[in-house]
Amino acid sequence: MALVIENLTRRFGATEVLRGIDLAVADRELVALLGPSGSGKTTLLKIIAGLDWPNAGSLTVADEDWLARRPQTRETGFVFQHYALFPHMRVRDNIAFGLTVQPRPRRPDAAAITARVNELLQFLQIETLADRYPAELSGGQRQRVALGRALATSPRILLLDEPFGALDAQVRRDLRRWLRHVHEASGTTTIFVTHDQEEAFELADRVVVMGAGRIEQIGRPDEIYDHPASPFVARFLGHTV
Ligand code: ADP
Repeated sequence: MALVIENLTRRFGATEVLRGIDLAVADRELVALLGPSGSGKTTLLKIIAGLDWPNAGSLTVADEDWLARRPQTRETGFVFQHYALFPHMRVRDNIAFGLTVQPRPRRPDAAAITARVNELLQFLQIETLADRYPAELSGGQRQRVALGRALATSPRILLLDEPFGALDAQVRRDLRRWLRHVHEASGTTTIFVTHDQEEAFELADRVVVMGAGRIEQIGRPDEIYDHPASPFVARFLGHTV
């Protein structure tokens, strides 16, 4: 397993936001965390990234205790809905950023950084945007660049929090297809947060339905759609119960 979470709990004051989460994600899998607003999806993602800490439970990646690792060394890449690109940097420099700030032993030299950025620009089909500034890009183009920046360091786990949430329906559909292709070609283990069931079902190998800090159901999209495990899941999917 790429990532294993056991009995993870997070409280803010008296509120239990994550109540004993158990989740295992396989190598190269694309898993969607699906649930209504406030169900704990972002908190779980932040804990994986090292931007937040659980009160109890364990998190291992490739059998290594990740809670013992500092966030900078966790080898995650992330894209958030409003995690803006650096406005004063061209697209190619935005993508290079993660490589240039890596700790010494891992940091590639300038030529290797340029080569990696060119490779990513081509892979993500955004070569024509390389010398633009973020203000000269559409919302969808910006999120493609943000994904390039997240992938630049070849992360073990890619974390995407509502990355297409602010975009209109047609752009979202295009980006979904594109992300599916990028995922298949790169093979990066990916956790994708969304409250949009169509997005989760179309993108994910497995869907994790969350409600009020618990996992309500985990399964392939068709399994969840055909056999909701609880009235909560059925209601959330819009089935009449
Ligand atoms: P989701 O991503 O599913 O919308 P979140 O993980 O953002 O859910 O939030 C889950 C709950 O945790 C919400 O009720 C939210 O208000 C609460 N919460 C999140 N972060 C904090 C924080 N730093 N302090 C207090 N409460 C928080």
